[in-house]
Formats: sequence, structure tokens, C-alpha cells
Amino acid sequence: MTLIKNNKTLFLAFMLYVGVALLLPHRIGEVMDNSLYYFKELFEVIPLILLLTAMIDAWVPQELIGDKIGSDAGLKGYFFSLIIGSVSAGPIYAEFPVTKMLYKKGASLSNITVILSAWAVVKLPMLINEAKFLGFNYMITRWLTTIIAIMIMGTIVGRLVKRTDVDKNTITDDQKDLIAVNEAYCIGCGLCARIAPDYFEMVDKKAVLLNSEKVTLIDVKEIAKRCPAKAINM
Ligand code: SF4
Repeated sequence: MTLIKNNKTLFLAFMLYVGVALLLPHRIGEVMDNSLYYFKELFEVIPLILLLTAMIDAWVPQELIGDKIGSDAGLKGYFFSLIIGSVSAGPIYAEFPVTKMLYKKGASLSNITVILSAWAVVKLPMLINEAKFLGFNYMITRWLTTIIAIMIMGTIVGRLVKRTDVDKNTITDDQKDLIAVNEAYCIGCGLCARIAPDYFEMVDKKAVLLNSEKVTLIDVKEIAKRCPAKAINM
């Protein structure tokens, strides 16, 4: 039972195959062929996407992502998100690990929505083909109206969906109010600031909290557990 519980999606897919084999045995060959086609495509694309995701994680500074496509980036954020989405290549499912990484590093949900949507419908090579087959006027009108629609969508998603809806480990405002460093206990070892420099800073050999959205509740719990002076309350 635990095996099934831990692999619910896989189990559901397996049951669907069994269902098709039992109820529509004449279609199972077609289903298997389609599945193999997508598996092959997945194995060709996913390693590259994982590499790209790891490179963003390792080399793109959080400050840069926060500045360009973070929640305070405003119209500049939409502009950069449109460019990122428009020049990106690859199938639609490949964008999710990349955008999750950008989100983890401080991109806002509005800008993530713009990147995802632009990736899906505003690819630059597609625009050239579109103009070639349907004419420049058609292409530019569709492109502009699509961009306006994407920005409206981004704004709506940013208003309606909270970071905690996407990642349950995001620290909520209420939890933020409870987290505190007991200055009297802090021995200034700097461990917390080394592990989570976005959330803790050393000032006069005492840890102080920074207002950052890039640290998860799990991170803070772990740091509080490892603090040698048990100086972090939450
Ligand atoms: S880990 Fe604990 S003792 Fe060390 S600096 Fe941070 S709060 Fe202070």
C-alpha cells in the first residue's frame, strides 16, 4: 500500500493502461505506440532541461532574478518575462522545471505566468513563419493582442494565487511574525547566515532576520534545529 501511496501517478497511469487493455483491446497497440513516442521525446529533452535548471540554480544570482522578474519588477518584469518566454525553445512540459527554479529564486507568479504563456504561444521563429503564411498584419495583430492578454493573465494570477498555494513551504506572513532570533541567546556563530544568507544576516556578531521570500519554512525549521544556542524561535 505504501508503494502505491508513494507512486500515485504511476499507479493511476498503469491502471489506465490496464483499463484500455481490458475495455478496448483493439486500441492498446495504438496507446502503447503513442506512449513510447512521448517517452522517447521526454528522454531526449529532460536531461537538457535538468542541465539548464541546474545552471540557473548555480550561476544566476537570486538578486538578479528578484530585480528583473521579482514581485517588485513591475512592467520591467513583464518585459523580461516576455523575452525569456519568447526566445525559449522546447516542448511545453519542459518549461515547468525551469519556471519552478526561477520561482524558487524569487520570480513572481505574475511573471512566471507571462514566461509560461509566452513560451507556449509567442515563439520568435513561429512569428516569422506566421508572417510568411498569413501576412505581416495578421501576425502583428495577433502578437500584440496575445501579449496584452498574457499580461492581463499574469496580473490576475498574481492577485489570485499566493506563493503558499504553489509551495506549501513558503513562509506565510503570520509565520514570519512568529520567527525571531533571541539576541540574548545568540552566540554569533554565523551558522544561520551561512546556510540561508537571504534570511539571516550577522550584525555586530548577532543574527538578524531579513525579509526574504526565498527561504522555505523547512529551511528555517532545519536552521532553528541546528542553531547551537537554540536562539531561533518559531
Ligand atoms: S545559528 Fe544561532 S547562535 Fe549561530 S548566529 Fe545563528 S542564531 Fe546565533
